[in-house]
Order: sequence, then C-alpha cells, then structure tokens
Amino acid sequence: MRVYADNAATTRTDPEILEKMLPVFTETYGNPSSIHTAGRDAFFVLKEARDRTAKALNALPDEIYFTSGGTEADNWAILGAAKKKAAKGRHIITSAIEHHAVLHTLEKGDFDVTYLPVNEQGFVSCEDLEKAIREDTVLVTVMMANNEIGSIQPIRQLADIAHRRNVLFHTDAVQAVGHIPVDVKELGVDMLSLSGHKFSAPKGVGALYVRKGLLLPNLMQGGAQEKGRRPGTENVPAAYGMSLALEKAVTGLEDKMKKLSALRDKLINGILDTVPYCRRNSPAENCLPGMVNVSVQYLEGESILLMLDMNGICASSGSACTSGSLDPSHVLLALGLDHETAHGSVRLSLCGQNTEEEVDYILEKFPQIIARLRAMSPLWEKVEKKEG
Ligand SMILES: *Cc1c(COP(=O)(O)O)cnc(C)c1O
Repeated sequence: MRVYADNAATTRTDPEILEKMLPVFTETYGNPSSIHTAGRDAFFVLKEARDRTAKALNALPDEIYFTSGGTEADNWAILGAAKKKAAKGRHIITSAIEHHAVLHTLEKGDFDVTYLPVNEQGFVSCEDLEKAIREDTVLVTVMMANNEIGSIQPIRQLADIAHRRNVLFHTDAVQAVGHIPVDVKELGVDMLSLSGHKFSAPKGVGALYVRKGLLLPNLMQGGAQEKGRRPGTENVPAAYGMSLALEKAVTGLEDKMKKLSALRDKLINGILDTVPYCRRNSPAENCLPGMVNVSVQYLEGESILLMLDMNGICASSGSACTSGSLDPSHVLLALGLDHETAHGSVRLSLCGQNTEEEVDYILEKFPQIIARLRAMSPLWEKVEKKEG
C-alpha cells in the first residue's frame, strides 16, 4: 500500500482541475495584455479566475493579485508594507512559528523585529501583541494556520488590536485557504497570502489579497500587469486552475472539515494509544483538520521517516524546508520542546483524498516501526533498564 500523508508540503494536482486547465495552454494561449482576439480571450479567462478567487475569499476581484506562490506573496506583503510605512519606523511584529518565507524576509531586511512567543499548544496571545505594539510599529504579520503543527491563530482579534493602534496586518494563510473558512472581510486583514499547491492546484501559483485602498509598493519592476503592481506575463492556466481548485475546496467545506477531523483524530489518538513515550505536538483544539504532529521520544524523526517510506508511507519531520539541516524545527522549539524531543517529531498531514483504510494502515505500521527502531537504540535500552 502507498499512502501520501504529506499534504502540508504539497498536494497532488486534482486531475479534474488539470483537465480543465489544458485548453488554456493550447487554445486560450494568448497574452492577456495583447489587444487582438487571442489576447482578449486570455484576458477573459484571467478575469474569470480573479472573480472566482475573490468570491471564494469574500474579496473584491480588484483586491486579488496573482503571484508565483506563497513565498512571493509573503515577501511582497512584508517588504511592500515596510516600504510604504518607512517614514513611521521599521518595527515589525511576527510570531516565533512563522514559515521561513516570512522569517527569512524579516531577517534579511533592515527591520527591528519582535517575535511573539506561543504557548505549548502553539498559540500566540492577544495580550502579548497588545504589549508589543510601539509608536514605530509598521506591520504585524502572524500566520493563520501553522504548517508544522496546525494551530489556528485568532486572526480577527489580532487584526483588531493592530488596527486600533493604526498598524497594518498581514496573515500568511497558505495552510488555511481551502482547508478552513477564510473570509477576508470577517478577518479584517489588510493583506493575506495563499498558494495553489496546498489545495490541489498546481505548484508555482498563488495570490496576495490586498485590501482596497491600500496601495502596496511593487516588489518587482516590469510591465503593467496586475494593475502595474505585479509585473510579468500572467500564468493564466495556473491562475485559472487555482481558482477552480479553490472553488471546489470551499464547496461543502464544513462537511469536509468534519470528515477529515474525524480521520485526523483517529490517527493521532491511535498513535498516542499504541506508542509509549509519544508526545502530541499538534493542538487538541483549533487545529487544521488534516494535521497530525507527534514526537517519539528516544528516536530521530528522520529514521522514522525512512522506515515509514520503506513501508510506502510518505510523511515529514518538521518542515520540508528544514530537512537536510541539523537544527531542530523552530516551531517545535517555540512550543518549549527540548532538542531531543523536537528531533523525534513526525508530521502526517492528511487531505480529503486520504481514506480510513490508509489511516488504519498507518496505525498498523507506525507502532511496529517505532518498536523496531527502539529495539536498536542504546538510549531506549537505558530507559527500559530504569523502568525495570
Ligand atoms: C507552503 C507554505 C508557504 C510557501 O508557499 P509556496 O507556494 O510553496 O512558495 C508559505 N507559508 C506557509 C505557511 C506554507 O505552508
């Protein structure tokens, strides 16, 4: 059996979406900026994609800017907002558990950054944000849902606090869009990032929502595409596919969330019940419907991944971007985990395509793999001796 349980890293492109994209490559292939018929046809496909994307987020079409993905959207939101507000200061507030697309952008820039801590379930506190805002604060950027543990932040309250102090608010909603309800008006955010490949659209396309009236400076220079704010010939087939995938994802979302959450709970409870010395890292409440993250003590996450893979199960340890590095995940450290426990983490991220049979298969293999690895571990030998 093969089980793909790494949907937080990327998803399979929905074949039905791909099918609908193909004619945009081969028939409506004009440049949307061209004035001839082929260009006009492409222009209308792009317009349709923008309208559909906006509708799914309760935004206006004018507020949607297509990008090359979540990373570009995050970079643009942060660097654009900072540039716009440079006269006010260079203090930016974020959380300790952001994606590297946010953290590295902040570290590379000439900013004064405050990192809001999270509690051991992975949530920031409104009081901490309140206290962190200063006269020279120009931006608050806090992710909507975390990509490693799945904690969902109280974005509406956080955005409220920022706005009461006249500070812009951006959220990286890449893990949230298509998975939990995202309504930009209800959230009250100024900017919101999303990425297609996290909800069954192709890789390399995303969008930044920018609230009407907020004129965000460009990240790149070039043509007049996207109202002159994001130059470069639009990726029309990908934007079209992303809009269809988003529409499909948000249709009947509550029901899908309920089903997936039940599968998630079966998986994590099954692991915690059968594997001793196993810590739950994903929160029990306010967690993404498909996210499971546990730490298996006295073992390395990497060795567990290899064994899972040999049994046909694709999972991840921390985040795909950090594999290959020896540092434990900054997200798990921020929860207060020690280095050993953080190193023993395994993330299994499910999507609507995963079945109960697949979860049963993981639950059959996981305890066997842990037992086999621990039997070879000198650390485990000591633990067992102590227990007598
Ligand atoms: C995947 C991801 C990104 C990056 O998106 P890309 O489209 O891969 O560039 C940013 N933030 C979060 C939370 C993510 O999960």
